[in-house]
Amino acid sequence: MGKLITKRGWETVIFLDDAGEMTSRICTKCKELKLASDFGSNKGLAYNKRSDCKACHNVTFRQATSIQNGKRRAKMNGLPSDMTQLVREKIKKRQGNKCILSGETECLTTEHVIPLSWGTGFGDTYGNVVFMSKRLNSSKGKKNIFTWIKGQPDQYQANFHNALVPTLAARNDMSVEEYEVFVNECYSNRK
Ligand SMILES: [Zn+2]
Repeated sequence: MGKLITKRGWETVIFLDDAGEMTSRICTKCKELKLASDFGSNKGLAYNKRSDCKACHNVTFRQATSIQNGKRRAKMNGLPSDMTQLVREKIKKRQGNKCILSGETECLTTEHVIPLSWGTGFGDTYGNVVFMSKRLNSSKGKKNIFTWIKGQPDQYQANFHNALVPTLAARNDMSVEEYEVFVNECYSNRK
């Protein structure tokens, strides 16, 4: 029989074989029991393995890459970025982990309501980001969202006026009317 190592109550659970090699452990992120081979190598860490499994590590890596892409695109267009994974998670949670327009729960992407490519507006910030289905994010693209929404189903239009616009207006200390005027001005002044 091997050995079981626990630390800090049950937060760290590692199973070792008789030779003292790790056979499996509980991932510190997803809390699932996984085989040693499901953890990436990292010399210098306990048992030369990361404490989060490969699947969790890949998600973290993708999120970090996506944040970096947003920052790079904002900078390229002379716009600010204050985005972090925590801010993204807060935005997503406040939307109930759903697309703000369609209510879809799959394939959600960060949508910059005022496109970064316009080179004007709020950039990659809390005041300009919502979560939207990839499908709608692609459809909207670089268009003015106030024009684009008119071609969308009634339910999406209702969510646009009742949720998306008031949310972003509030985040920027604007009335909904001021927000619409601002977006339209950004559109007129786009690069
Ligand atoms: Zn995991």
